[in-house]
Amino acid sequence: MTGEEPIRPDGMRCARCERPDREPLPRQPFPNELGQKLAAEICTECWDEWKQRQMLLINHYGLDVREPRSREFLLTNLRSFLFGEGGEEAEIDSSEEGTVSW
Ligand SMILES: [Zn+2]
Repeated sequence: MTGEEPIRPDGMRCARCERPDREPLPRQPFPNELGQKLAAEICTECWDEWKQRQMLLINHYGLDVREPRSREFLLTNLRSFLFGEGGEEAEIDSSEEGTVSW
């Protein structure tokens, strides 16, 4: 016993946590290029973290996910959270509740 986790033969290196033995998502979360990228590069654990984060954002900003601009906001945050893109991740600051401007 070395204490190291075995490398899974079907494991992947996650683009976010950079662990080489992560489980890929069981399926694409979106039927598009971004969904493909997520399924190929992001592990289930990071995806679960994002889903919790997304829930916080939705609750905090009172987002209606049927609205295109709400979805756009979440996608921007998703890219920033999982891929480190853009640097536009929203800060959750309760003093600004309800004052977010689009
Ligand atoms: Zn990961």
